[in-house]
Parts: sequence; C-alpha cells; structure tokens
Amino acid sequence: MSASKNTVITIDELKQPTTMRQRDRVNNAEVGKLEAELQGAVEGEVRFDAGSKAMYAVDASNYRQVPIGVVIPRTKDDVVRTVAACRRYGVPILSRGGGTSLAGQCCNAAIVIDWSKYMHGVLELNLAERWARVLPGTVCDELRDRAMKDSNSLLNWGA
Ligand SMILES: Cc1cc2nc3c(=O)[nH]c(=O)nc-3n(C[C@H](O)[C@H](O)[C@H](O)COP(=O)(O)OP(=O)(O)OC[C@H]3O[C@@H](n4cnc5c(N)ncnc54)[C@H](O)[C@@H]3O)c2cc1C
Repeated sequence: MSASKNTVITIDELKQPTTMRQRDRVNNAEVGKLEAELQGAVEGEVRFDAGSKAMYAVDASNYRQVPIGVVIPRTKDDVVRTVAACRRYGVPILSRGGGTSLAGQCCNAAIVIDWSKYMHGVLELNLAERWARVLPGTVCDELRDRAMKDSNSLLNWGA
C-alpha cells in the first residue's frame, strides 16, 4: 500500500474528545475525567489536544489510528500513576519509542505513553559481560555511542 492511500484525518475527527467511533470502551465523559486525573497525577506531559493526537496517530508505517490521548512521563511514578488510572477507566495503553515500527504497532485508540522524550539513557553498561540496563526510551544509537565511548576509554587506559 502506498502512503498516498492513507485516509486523511479530518478536523472533525480530531476535535472529538474520544475514540468512541473506534472502540466502545469509554464514553466521552469518562475520557474527560481520565484526562483531568492524569493532568493532576503526572509530572510529565499530558496531551489530549487535536495537534498532539494528529502527531501520534501515525508511525513509520502506513497505518493511522487517532489515540485517546498521550502521556509523556518524566518519572517511573508518572508511569505507575498513568497505568493505574487507565486500568480504572478500562482504557488501553500503548508504549511508544521512536515510532519507527513498520506495521502500525505504535498507533492505536489508546493512551500512548511516549518514552522517548524524558525516559531515555543508559543506566548501567557491563562491557566485559556484554549487557546493559537502559531506560525504556533509549534508542540503539545512544547505547552504541556509550558502549563505543566506554570501550575506547578502556583501550586508551590500557595503552
Ligand atoms: C528505515 C528502517 C529500517 C529498519 N530496519 C530494520 C532492520 O534492519 N531490522 C529490524 O529488526 N528492524 C528494522 N526496522 C524496524 C525497527 O527495528 C523498529 O521500528 C524498532 O525496533 C522500533 O523501535 P521504536 O523504539 O521506534 O518503537 P515503536 O515503533 O515506538 O514501537 C514498536 C513496538 O514496540 C512497543 N514499544 C515501544 N517502546 C516500548 C517500551 N519501552 N516497552 C514496551 N514496548 C515498547 C510499541 O508498543 C510497539 O508495539 C527498521 C525501521 C526503519 C524505519
């Protein structure tokens, strides 16, 4: 399928506060309550505006699904509170990294949790045993750069 066959997202669709048209899981009033709850509970960003929903409706694939809303957590606690709130409202959640998946995996009628903005970085790297512990939004380049830097300093130290 070529990208030109994508359905255009209409302004009316983006203005709708929920994705009821796609899933009958939550009603508009509940989405409003969930948004308010997340706004109060999350230190990071909570976005339910049309522009953000448009941005997160697509990934690197040809698929499109307008999300219910987007949470960009700053901390682990933000994530715990987001998951708890979504669970209470029976709303699905979807993890998103760089959005480079090619089969529509990271766009859906859900609360999208975008890890890439704040929750990235290498926590621990063990070159000898070849393992690393990273935050969930870490991209491969970030890990590779750090591994390269550490292995270079090991080499230089040995010289
Ligand atoms: C130009 C190009 C070339 C590519 N080449 C290759 C290749 O050679 N080999 C290959 O294997 N792949 C390839 N890919 C695919 C690429 O590896 C995937 O797109 C990538 O793994 C997705 O990572 P992401 O962080 O962008 O995740 P997303 O695209 O944001 O998400 C992908 C999936 O992972 C889930 N997810 C994302 N973050 C998390 C998280 N923190 N915790 C739990 N679940 C999460 C999402 O819900 C979704 O289901 C290519 C993609 C592109 C665009």
